[in-house]
Order: sequence, then structure tokens, then C-alpha cells
Amino acid sequence: MDETVQISEVEIHTSLQGGEAGQIIYFNDRAKKMGSHWVPFDPNRGGDKIITWLSDQIDGAANGCTLAETQAAVSRAMTTWNNVKGATIPLVEWPDYGMDWGYVQSLMDFGGFPGWYADITQAGWLPREFFTAWFGEEESEYILGVTFTLIWIDSETGLPTDMDNNRKQDVAFREVYYNNFFTWAIDLEGWSQKIDVESIVLHENGHGLSLGHFGKLTRTPNGKLHWSPEAVMNAGYVYPQRELSGTDTAAFYSIWASWPNN
Ligand SMILES: [Zn+2]
Repeated sequence: MDETVQISEVEIHTSLQGGEAGQIIYFNDRAKKMGSHWVPFDPNRGGDKIITWLSDQIDGAANGCTLAETQAAVSRAMTTWNNVKGATIPLVEWPDYGMDWGYVQSLMDFGGFPGWYADITQAGWLPREFFTAWFGEEESEYILGVTFTLIWIDSETGLPTDMDNNRKQDVAFREVYYNNFFTWAIDLEGWSQKIDVESIVLHENGHGLSLGHFGKLTRTPNGKLHWSPEAVMNAGYVYPQRELSGTDTAAFYSIWASWPNN
């Protein structure tokens, strides 16, 4: 079978703006799984059961953080996912070889490279203009990070493949981008105008591992925020969450517990 790739799912993580009176529903999601997933032993991805990832060092420094700071946070977040009990993928880091990775980036002429190497690429911190080019001027002011899913397309039929017959599109690779419109930081405590690197990396790589958004956040007329439940995989970011909630790990487990037997 001969395959090409195509963008399928695009998961956007936003910052939240308050200010209006009355009850506000910020987000309300239930789907714990995405509509696409990795195929174990996919011959197009090397035929192994591991999921590989790499981090682009060229775009790796963030507005407010050094390269060393962001990369340490990326490593911690990936270790958090890799250490969830009851499921073993494993996640394996690959060297970046000093390349400016980013297939989706290259589609919009923001640098990058029209190819890919690892399964999940931390493509790095890009200027707001990249997010404007994809999502629009107003949206780019709220988007913290985005995960693009590229799926395999059968070049004869032009249709998405489903090699393992699980009724999910087969992921070719995923790329994560972070928005340098914001000021990023590490070791934040509580609410801040700055954005916590590790929290967002943890969230985006949840999408890298096929988790969808879930949870609801509302604000009552007296201004109190109410989460049900509060989780890393909530669609909106309010303050740092560097540890997975029970709902996050349950969602991860539901997707990965039987790996590599999907
Ligand atoms: Zn998200």
C-alpha cells in the first residue's frame, strides 16, 4: 500500500478571558479520545510498538524562557506521560540532529521542513503570525498551543487508512506548536499572566497520545470558577497543572492499557 499524509484533527488549547457578568461556560467537552490513533507496529512508522518524539531546538526557546528551561520542562512532561502506571508504550526520545523540524510550519512558509522523523515533534515556539495564518487574527490572541494530527491517506482510494480496523484514522505523525504571543515561564505558582511551559507541553502531548478534551469550566455570577472535573486535558488553561488528574490517567489508561493490542 502506498500512502500520503493529510491534516486530520487540529486540537487548540486556549487561554481564558474573564470580565463579563453572569454565568459563563468557558468550555464543556466529553470526548476523552480523539478520532485518530497510532497503529501498533505500523510498517510506515518503522514497525515498532514504541512512540518516538523529538524536540526542535531551533525553535525551542520561548518568549520568557531559555532553550535549556523549555527543554527541561518538555522532558519532565514526557516523563509524566511515560510513567503513568498500568500502561507501557513506551515513549522514546529521538535526537533532533539540529534540524528545523516542522512539516505544518513549512506548509505556511514559517521555516520548518517538508518532512518528518519522529512520531511526535515538539516543533517549538513560533510567532503569533503563524497562528494567525492558520486560525485568524482574533483567535491567535487566545491560542497557547496546538497539536496537528497528520493521518495516512491511501493514495489509490484517496481515503484515510484504518489498518488495524479500530474505526480510527491511522496517525502518521503529530506536531505540537506553542505561541510566542504569550510570555512563558517555568515554576509558576497559581494564576499568572505568564504561561507555564510544562503544563501546556503536558496538555499538548496528551493529544500526541490521542487523548481528547474533557471537562467543563463555568463561572458563577459571584465570580467563582467551577471545574467538573479539573484536568490537564481541559480545553482551557487557567493556572499551572503539572500533574495528571485521576480523569487524565483514566483516559490515558482507556486508550493505552492494551497497547500494543489495539
Ligand atoms: Zn487541547
